[in-house]
Amino acid sequence: MTTSNTVIKLHNTKTRKKSEFTPIDANNVRMYLCGPTVYDRAHLGNARPVVVFDVLYRLLLEVYGKQHVTYVRNFTDVDDKINATALSRKEAGAPGTLEELVAERTEETIGWYLSDMGKLGALEPDHMPRATQYIDQMITMIEGLIAKGHAYADGSGHVLFSVKSYDNYGQLSGRSVDDMIAGARVEIADNKRDPMDFVLWKPSTDELPGWDSPWGRGRPGWHIECSAMSQELLGADFDIHAGGNDLMFPHHENEIAQSCCANGDDSFAKYWLHNEMLQVEGKKMSKSLGNFFTVHDLLDQDIPGEVIRFVFMQTHYRKPMDWTEKKAGEAEATLRKWHALTAGIEPAANAAAAVQEALADDLNTAGAIAEMHKLAAAGDAASLLASARLMGLLTEELAGWATQPDLDLSAYEAQLLAARETAMETKDFSQVDRLKTAFIEAGLEVRMSKAGVELVPGSGFDPAKLEAVE
Ligand code: AMP
Ligand code: ZN
Repeated sequence: MTTSNTVIKLHNTKTRKKSEFTPIDANNVRMYLCGPTVYDRAHLGNARPVVVFDVLYRLLLEVYGKQHVTYVRNFTDVDDKINATALSRKEAGAPGTLEELVAERTEETIGWYLSDMGKLGALEPDHMPRATQYIDQMITMIEGLIAKGHAYADGSGHVLFSVKSYDNYGQLSGRSVDDMIAGARVEIADNKRDPMDFVLWKPSTDELPGWDSPWGRGRPGWHIECSAMSQELLGADFDIHAGGNDLMFPHHENEIAQSCCANGDDSFAKYWLHNEMLQVEGKKMSKSLGNFFTVHDLLDQDIPGEVIRFVFMQTHYRKPMDWTEKKAGEAEATLRKWHALTAGIEPAANAAAAVQEALADDLNTAGAIAEMHKLAAAGDAASLLASARLMGLLTEELAGWATQPDLDLSAYEAQLLAARETAMETKDFSQVDRLKTAFIEAGLEVRMSKAGVELVPGSGFDPAKLEAVE
């Protein structure tokens, strides 16, 4: 059932063209996004696909109706990096078995992830499967692939996918198998019939997470996880498969090979969407350059999640995006203005047609924001609010930070500092105490150190109470 006449156009990596999006079943539009490997906090780049495809999810909900969209984003909770963190904790003397420490690590990381992404205004998908809950489906899929001659066991606990058995391998990224071998670090191993073959199943040690299988105790390879979970939750055919463009090869090529061979036809996702990468101040984010930070780091620096979301939306998802402090400052100023303009206003029944059209045009979020600037300039607050909410901006959940006025507290800080200096000489601290009490009663946190005085508004901050401070 279509609730609006909006025609959505999407750029499909598979065809390298922008085309009209026609769902397989308009009553159940289905989308899958490759989720994180849960070994540590999400960095800012990891948040880009989440925010970008959250906008698509919101648009689909708007166009097809809440009951007619299913969105799946997985958690990869079995991985060498997770095992490595658990191992180092164990070596540092943490109690519990290695398996328990692995579970502890994935649990805490998933909690952080959901909290951080929530603060960026990302709706939770309808399903968030964890790979470890779908091991049976993976084993069944691998057995099927072996039976059809697309995979083989090496006799020592590994199962490999035979890339030569699938003629269309490489079609998504448009590369030949030879190009891919040249471009990628393909691991040459004795157990592979062909260097391009990739792992579906591999052995595990007794201490690390592992599952019984026809090939011995082991664990799945990464690619088969997404094939099995998407099939279980969305079916063999579904509409949209999304992810960062770093996943196009090998991850998505391998998912396609597995799923199409398991299904026995060339069905699987119809539209493939890829976001470009995020950089920081013009450079690739990396620990060695010192410009690596997590979403949590930014939130901790009091950069509101809504500001991060806004900065992301200023760049089209298929273009590289640059995170800069300058952009964050400008985004904050714009959002403050928009919050003030829309305060106490009821949103219009619908987003402005121009905003919806921009989003429907392959998620032109930058174009949508330009339209919203026009609405703000024209004073059309109700339309601005409805339009912003379609993009997950100016929502009640995210608004908290902006309802607090951007008050300049420096005069009060100077007042307290001066009182302290006087008190150091007179040894009479009563004025300092009086000021501190008044600031605290106004809802400010008072931070006094040798370096100076800082007043930080807390959630109960009431600027009106400052007026009485003498
Ligand atoms: P990972 O946990 O490494 O598998 O990554 C999770 C998601 O983050 C994948 O969809 C990646 O494509 C995406 N991703 C990783 N780095 C960046 C980046 N710098 N910019 C945008 N997306 C990224
Ligand atoms: Zn995937």
